[in-house]
Amino acid sequence: MTASAKTNLLGLPRAALETFVADLGSKPFRARQLMNWVYKRGEGSIANMTDLAKDFRAQLMECAEVRTPDIVTMQHSSDGTRKWKLSADSSQAFEMVFIPEKERGTLCISSQVGCMLDCSFCSTAQQGFNRNLTADEIVGQVWLAEKELGFEAGGDRIVTNVVLMGMGEPLANFRSVVPAVRILMDDYGFDLSRRRVTLSTSGLVPQIYKLAEETNVALAVSLHAPDDELRSELVPINRKHPIAELLAACWHYIDEQNGRSVTFEYVMLDGVNDSPTQARALAALLKGHPAKVNLIPFNPFPGTRYQRSPQPAILKFRDELIQRGVLATIRRTRGDDIDAACGQLAGKVIDRTTVRLGNKLFGVAVQQ
Ligand code: SAH
Repeated sequence: MTASAKTNLLGLPRAALETFVADLGSKPFRARQLMNWVYKRGEGSIANMTDLAKDFRAQLMECAEVRTPDIVTMQHSSDGTRKWKLSADSSQAFEMVFIPEKERGTLCISSQVGCMLDCSFCSTAQQGFNRNLTADEIVGQVWLAEKELGFEAGGDRIVTNVVLMGMGEPLANFRSVVPAVRILMDDYGFDLSRRRVTLSTSGLVPQIYKLAEETNVALAVSLHAPDDELRSELVPINRKHPIAELLAACWHYIDEQNGRSVTFEYVMLDGVNDSPTQARALAALLKGHPAKVNLIPFNPFPGTRYQRSPQPAILKFRDELIQRGVLATIRRTRGDDIDAACGQLAGKVIDRTTVRLGNKLFGVAVQQ
């Protein structure tokens, strides 16, 4: 995103936009009109917003604009998946991925440039962390993807689902992520239903409680192990927030938000967390709770010590869960030929962390 003194209309939730137009001396309904142009019609030029009074338009053009992150590169997978590298600053980049399916189009967006959580099986973790994305950079990914994919005013949306499963830990960037998901779900914004916007977290327990007070976005949690010893090795934040606390926060979220269920992501690592005994232990943890398990075949990246579980082990693991009454699905691997699959997003990150979570715990900076 190029430096600009103008206010970016993307990233301002409705209430903030109403204040913004009020400060310009206009009525609050102007904010809804603006959102209609920006999100419903995909209009990026204020000059083209023809039903706004000429004076107001001129005033707006002086101080506001629709500004998206700049595209550095775009890659196309043989399976139709697309990955964009977007510039965070002149020297750094983050990534977003579009996954087309028959009935829907899912956009996987990033929330940070890099990540601090240091999960041992994730490529983003190897890059280190530089900074949080701003709300407009988060919303800007969705707006830009729609444009890139050919969305036109009056036509059907191409991005029907958004998952915060790209680079970064969304709940470590609470301050920007919450307004961004509000815009995604606002009737005047992208108007996506709460089931079509999913926030995935590695398990920042206090932020899950806080999230329950702020929004009702669908929740996914990266569990990856049925016991604390193994989970602490794979997802170091577990040493601070162990499984029992994490699950209590999840059930609270569902109660509070009247949600359907939490999706638990579970990466399948050969010989590490994929035995039938581990499947049974996982079933015991989740049985009787509003939970679904999504098994993710491990996606390799250079330098990793892990290997993907063989397909029969993955199927067996799923069946063990299902037999015990726990819903389980296997995530189809998409875009791995262009390193766009889960855990493969690397971008370009200038690491600013002096200590990483795996080495010295809990230095994770959380923006409230
Ligand atoms: N930080 C958040 C958002 C990332 S979501 C979180 O941890 O939930 C990306 C999902 O892909 C997470 O479930 C993550 O654990 C998983 N993942 C990471 N590396 C992976 C890999 N190499 N192969 C498969 N899945 C991976």
